[in-house]
Amino acid sequence: MRQPLVAGNWKMNGSLDSIRSLVEGIKAGLDSVTTAELAACPPYVYIPQVAAMLEGSSIALGAQDVNDRESGAHTGEVAPGMLTDIGCKYAIVGHSERRSIYGESDEFTARKFAAARQAGLTPILCVGELLEEREQGITEQVVSRQLDAIIDLEGVGALADAVIAYEPVWAIGTGKTATPAQAQDVHAYIRGVIAREDAAVAEKVQILYGGSVKGSNAAELFAMADIDGGLIGGASLDANEFLSIGRAGNA
Ligand code: PEP
Repeated sequence: MRQPLVAGNWKMNGSLDSIRSLVEGIKAGLDSVTTAELAACPPYVYIPQVAAMLEGSSIALGAQDVNDRESGAHTGEVAPGMLTDIGCKYAIVGHSERRSIYGESDEFTARKFAAARQAGLTPILCVGELLEEREQGITEQVVSRQLDAIIDLEGVGALADAVIAYEPVWAIGTGKTATPAQAQDVHAYIRGVIAREDAAVAEKVQILYGGSVKGSNAAELFAMADIDGGLIGGASLDANEFLSIGRAGNA
């Protein structure tokens, strides 16, 4: 049985004050979330503040991105070891905003994934198709190309220590959620691709859904056999919404 994970991607939002009240709000309702692990991925600069606030709580900490190198002359970048140093468990890699706005390739994403694991982080690998790719009927090819970049570089076993987030790009921040059946189809496909290489890894890996998840639609998504929680953008900025999504994972 895979434990659900509900991870909040706060993106480039918040201030010291708003983040303090967001974390306090989540902590205040944490007892109502009985089954899922919750994780928060603040902007880099606020990670130490959030780490201090989360001390002693069960909420895990993550970063929204990571560089693919250990150290060196990479102005503006953050190395994976720095993230473990300040208490991160997770790092999101290959978010569609990194891929589309900053032109990050499948290969670069795979190197970030490898570097994150090497430093002891659990990568949350985002995969997903654009609207035009879904309309062309090539969702599966896109998702397997994104997964293959990881498997080619690291081997399928690397996915045993990772989380995958299926995020159809047309559903991110748009208010359009994939239906539970649409999401389940792709999640089952992803698990099947991995199972062809290693059934134990496929059984173990958590596959999250992301794309306009809210308190009102989380339960029906999380009820699907291959959906193991969610990667949450907008709704993770509201403590009550985020908690309500977390409760949707209650056994
Ligand atoms: C995301 O950016 O990972 C995401 C899923 O965003 P939203 O929940 O706002 O669609």
